[in-house]
Amino acid sequence: MHVAESKLQQSLPIITKKFNKHYVPKQREKMSKVYNFSAGPAVLNEQVLKNAAAAAIEFAGSGMSLMEMSHRSKPVVAMFDEAEANVRELLEVPAEFKILFLQGGASLQFHTAPLNLLKDGDKVDYADTGSWSAKAIKEAKALANVNVCCSSKESTYNHIPETSNQSEDAVYLHFTSNNTIYGTQFKDWPTPVNKDAYLVSDMSSDIFSRPIDWSKFGLVYAGAQKNIGPSGLTVVIVRESLLGQTGRAIPTILNYDTHIQAESMFHTPPVFGVHVANETFKWLKSIGGVKAIQVVNERKASNLYAEIDRNSLFSCPTVNKDRSSMNVVFVLSDAELDAEFLAFAKERNLETLKGHRSIGGFRASIYNAMPEAGVDALIAAMQEFEKAKA
Ligand SMILES: *Cc1c(COP(=O)(O)O)cnc(C)c1O
Repeated sequence: MHVAESKLQQSLPIITKKFNKHYVPKQREKMSKVYNFSAGPAVLNEQVLKNAAAAAIEFAGSGMSLMEMSHRSKPVVAMFDEAEANVRELLEVPAEFKILFLQGGASLQFHTAPLNLLKDGDKVDYADTGSWSAKAIKEAKALANVNVCCSSKESTYNHIPETSNQSEDAVYLHFTSNNTIYGTQFKDWPTPVNKDAYLVSDMSSDIFSRPIDWSKFGLVYAGAQKNIGPSGLTVVIVRESLLGQTGRAIPTILNYDTHIQAESMFHTPPVFGVHVANETFKWLKSIGGVKAIQVVNERKASNLYAEIDRNSLFSCPTVNKDRSSMNVVFVLSDAELDAEFLAFAKERNLETLKGHRSIGGFRASIYNAMPEAGVDALIAAMQEFEKAKA
């Protein structure tokens, strides 16, 4: 174990205490708010929301709401700089990567990423691990020679397949690090077979939940509304040396270089969203950063999976080793009871547990901002439900 890691292990009880203290404010004890297990837009830390509320009224002593302020004003530019520095610090992003705050969601990146990275006819590998991967593949196919190097579609995306069918000459390997709908997650970063190739990843639903090994990556993108802040903001982190080589005409607003040169202010950016994201970054730093939250995430997930496996009424359709620590998918063995369990949970202030419409059952999204008390309350409800049905 690394020195830094063992130090972290020692300080974990303190970090956890800090996390819970930061997390469970007084009104949570009275349950005036629910525990929101939505997959996205998703739960945000309560202090983050309070700070956002304050900025909605007045920002930085300006006498104005943040929503009324120019993105070129000093306080807003300073806030953008701080947000960027916080991303760099939290994810240990090396200097050769640029950090961009954009719009259009992860869905626009399905197109923009290949558009900025590939020449006509370039070959790329894509891992097909769920609906979002499939959408990324569809968009890439319009621009490149796409090889789907693996797919778990045949087994309803219940596991992460080996990326074994890669092409020797792929420019990059694209993968969805966490499959929000199916509840699976790459626990290790895949390795491209072409040693000159790099990884491109849609990390919309698990960015900031664990560290990233940047040496393997060319590009990471994420919509903010899962693990960062409100919808309308997209974070893109790109290795700058990969750009400017496509030989194609890229529309100005879709060109990463445009946004690098303009420091994410080429046009009016989503200022309020960046502020809320920055408040999340500050909160994450205050509880020990990404490595600390990773430990909390793993504990929340393993407690919940343990209950699903133990409880005679519930089961988890995903293969054990690939189970997501962010989106926990589970089913009742008697699907007739689905509506009753949802109502039972709702009575206990446990909301939006219904599974995605494409697979049914239940999904508990337990992103960074979901307090451990929320997961504990869900576990208690499952145990009570089991007793009630015995
Ligand atoms: C939610 C989600 C998307 C879609 O994001 P938008 O910001 O709505 O475009 C893409 N990929 C993954 C993994 C997601 O969870």
